[in-house]
Amino acid sequence: MHELPKQYDHAAAQARCRVVWDAGRHWHAEPSDLRPGQRVFSIVIPPPNVTGALHLGHALNNTLQDLLVRARRMQGFLTLWMPGTDHAGIATQAVVERRLLEEEKLSRHDLGRERLVARIWAWKEQYEKRILGQLRDMGASCDWERVRFTLDEQCARAVRTAFLRLFERGLVRRGKRLVNWDTFLQTAVSDDEVFHEQVKGHFWHIRYDVIDPAPGEPASVTVATTRPETLLGDTAVAVHPDPAAALDAAARALREKRAAAPAKEHADIDRALEDLAARQRDLVPVLETLARMARAGRQVRLPLLGRAIPLVADEWAKPEMGSGCVKITPAHDPNDHDVGLRCRLPMVNILNPDGTLNAAGGPYAGLAMMKARTRVVADLEAAGQLVQVEDRVIDLAHSDRSKTPIEPYLADQWFIRMSELAEPALDAVRSGKIRIVPERYAKSYLDWLGEKRDWPVSRQLWWGHRIPIWHVEGVAEADLAAAFAARADVAWRRDGGSGWHVCSAAETLGVEAVAGRPLVRDPDVLDTWFSSALWPHSTLGWPEATPELACFYPTTALVTSRDIITLWVARMVIMGLFDTGAIPFHDVAIHPKILDRYGETMSKSKGNGVDPLDVIEALGADALRFGMVSMATETQDVRMPVEFQCPACAARIEQTVQNRMLPRIACPKCGGAFRTQWAQSAADLALPRGPALSERFEAGRNFSNKLWNATRFVLMNLEDFRGRDLSGWRDAAAFTALEDRWLASRLASVTRDATRAIDDYRFAEAARILYAFAWDEFCSAYLELCKARLADPAHAEQARSMLLLGLDTILRLLHPIMPFVTEEIWQHLREAAGLRRMPWDAAAPAESIMVAAWPAPPEAWIDDRTETLFGTFLAVVGAIREIRSRQNVPPRTRVAVAIRCPADKAELLAPLHAAIESMATAELTAVGPDAASAPGAATAAAAGCDVFVDLAGLIDVPAEIARLAKECERTAGFIAAKRAKLADGGFAAKAPPAVVQKEREQLADLEEKLAKATATLEALRSRA
Ligand SMILES: [Zn+2]
Repeated sequence: MHELPKQYDHAAAQARCRVVWDAGRHWHAEPSDLRPGQRVFSIVIPPPNVTGALHLGHALNNTLQDLLVRARRMQGFLTLWMPGTDHAGIATQAVVERRLLEEEKLSRHDLGRERLVARIWAWKEQYEKRILGQLRDMGASCDWERVRFTLDEQCARAVRTAFLRLFERGLVRRGKRLVNWDTFLQTAVSDDEVFHEQVKGHFWHIRYDVIDPAPGEPASVTVATTRPETLLGDTAVAVHPDPAAALDAAARALREKRAAAPAKEHADIDRALEDLAARQRDLVPVLETLARMARAGRQVRLPLLGRAIPLVADEWAKPEMGSGCVKITPAHDPNDHDVGLRCRLPMVNILNPDGTLNAAGGPYAGLAMMKARTRVVADLEAAGQLVQVEDRVIDLAHSDRSKTPIEPYLADQWFIRMSELAEPALDAVRSGKIRIVPERYAKSYLDWLGEKRDWPVSRQLWWGHRIPIWHVEGVAEADLAAAFAARADVAWRRDGGSGWHVCSAAETLGVEAVAGRPLVRDPDVLDTWFSSALWPHSTLGWPEATPELACFYPTTALVTSRDIITLWVARMVIMGLFDTGAIPFHDVAIHPKILDRYGETMSKSKGNGVDPLDVIEALGADALRFGMVSMATETQDVRMPVEFQCPACAARIEQTVQNRMLPRIACPKCGGAFRTQWAQSAADLALPRGPALSERFEAGRNFSNKLWNATRFVLMNLEDFRGRDLSGWRDAAAFTALEDRWLASRLASVTRDATRAIDDYRFAEAARILYAFAWDEFCSAYLELCKARLADPAHAEQARSMLLLGLDTILRLLHPIMPFVTEEIWQHLREAAGLRRMPWDAAAPAESIMVAAWPAPPEAWIDDRTETLFGTFLAVVGAIREIRSRQNVPPRTRVAVAIRCPADKAELLAPLHAAIESMATAELTAVGPDAASAPGAATAAAAGCDVFVDLAGLIDVPAEIARLAKECERTAGFIAAKRAKLADGGFAAKAPPAVVQKEREQLADLEEKLAKATATLEALRSRA
């Protein structure tokens, strides 16, 4: 007899399974393997950044992909999961530069471009290995022979080719753009790489004198700014062209707001309206004079530098705010930049790339921004131009990468024109060719693409795909034609002036000069999303027409998180359509984000994350995966409570905002201390580490153990039984016993429902269906129900076949979610029951469950009447068990049970009386419409039946009365408090509706609880 070890050892099983999978290369796919009529399923991994280790978000994303891939593989598709990593330009360079500075006190300029890039490659090698290892630890069945990297030669060729094609079609342009400048990394960062922080600052009011004021004209204007040093770059002062009308409009808007606002806000609004009226009276005459002066081309004198700058009329100046005049610094503020474009103002850049002032800063050149600010303020004060200084909290933009303040900065950048490119990508989603699931996320895709904003693709970095453009001056087109006409991979265009831009799909142009004039390569690299945008086709070999591209493109599905719908998903659609003429994928499955207990995103820097490797080590990869799949519901985001686990006694300590930043934590249970990720002192580092886990993963671990124990039971009953050929079991005639009909029916309907859930990306639903069926129905009920037949030689063979049928089917259905425990059991079953053959198998059991056929129970097995019967049966047994445990009835003590139900239901249940009695350790005294409750019996409702459990003599009645009386009193207290809270108008008005709703629900639950306890209490009292 083949016996299973008592305990399931997840670590050993994981190691063994990987050997089986790697030996069989079951994860590998070849286009030449495609059989006629076979369907293809392909998916590209959202490539993890090589910046660091994988986090829980990756665990979720990759578990869901693996679930799909494993299911499709078993369903007979030719299946490819393309793995790889992303060079993540700015993120990776920032990490390596930070370390360089911290550990060696060197900047990238000390090292130089080549040496820095070499350092980053070394970093990449280390982390790529780690990331791929982590993916394997999670059980990802990627095609490990096809690992790609966004910066490898194949992807680089695709990037250059795609860029050249855009260039040739005139879709690449060079332009000035106000960028978010990171002065530490000295690069532009995108809006998505910027975070805002409230900081204490000031509002400086500065006087600008009017040049040659006429009588009746103001001699000066006052402007206010939070960044006084930027006045060095001012090129105008703006005033509203029609201040009276603007104030009228503002007053109108306020009155409308007042009409809609609650009474308590009226006072504030009235004060604002009075202020507007005062401005209308006192300020408008001055502003109207200034607007006239602006139209007449009059000027003011820029303080400190003495430059004459124009007054301009522009609606950006709001007469309802401040003095009604604003300074305009077009090169250093996005709104001023727009004014500059409207009024055709010069744009004076005062900054060097490192954040110091350049020559335009005059006497302040060379100073860093903050130093310049101090000096400018002091000099303004000395010159008598500083009118007032106010304290003010300001919203300051910071770079997410370097955590330093962002400077708006005018720079030459490359752009991809979006107007033509966006249209087909919009159409692909509007027409339903690409399906975004859940559908609500299509909106952010359509909204963003609909703006058709040009995509700035230059990054002033060294790590990335260098822009394949060279610049040359002073040559004629004939010179370029002579040099490159024979090359299909080179194109050139005018640079907008007298020079040329030359673009190439080759790594170099092959020549350094044309007609004696040097070709100078653009120093910048491409936005990292440019190579990611090509990922589905570049990984398959584009621009070559490879067999992989023909076979696996378009890919079937993309599984990703909502934050990168615009950055990544939309751009893949654009570039896929542009490069190949076909959409990159048919479905986009968006999964939720995992937040901590308090609704915050998890991150190492907050100390509130869970390291997936900790979960794998403590509970197993299947526990991690089952937890992840169960959380992948269609609602927005998932909150996950996090707990530290004491390494000494395994006690769980809730992770809170306070303790998550501590280097050491004392265990309240055993008194021992353990370290966290923050440990730095030698004393702390010497402590054992306490991993952060979550109860959300326990269910998966327990489930693995449940399956293991069920398998032990099955194997113990399989002595000398190697299995039967069940390929003839096509109709329900094979199942004569009632419980067999039930099991067969459930196998068919559960397979159908779980398969549909997977098809529709309802991941959590698939996990729920399989868990409930495997645990409650197969392991808990069916195994119990077939015991008698196993002991009876006349029926044992059929019962054994049914056990194998049930277990084998469950393993296959669960394999995509929990690959390790199912494979480990599968291998044991191959030894113990290697001759079994399921109705959907073409041959004996496959060498790995990974390539076993997906179950396909015939529709004919489905028997609704039997399923209803067993549904009732399980509910009744559950209700009796629940009462037993609630009342602490000893496990072996039989209880008397009456079931009141309609006659047809009683008839239905008749064949299962014995089963109810054995599974609930009960004796049925009556079943039917006339069944009555014994005095003081505990009652429960289950599937349309009233279940009465007679507790007479089983419980200590006076003690139970005392306990219940106390419980009623406590519950009544809670109810009174809740009612008072809800009756308080302040609470109901101020609290968010969701909170109020929750309070109401809790109140209803408490009231129900009280009613039940009171009824039981009265029944007991009547008996006492
Ligand atoms: Zn402890």
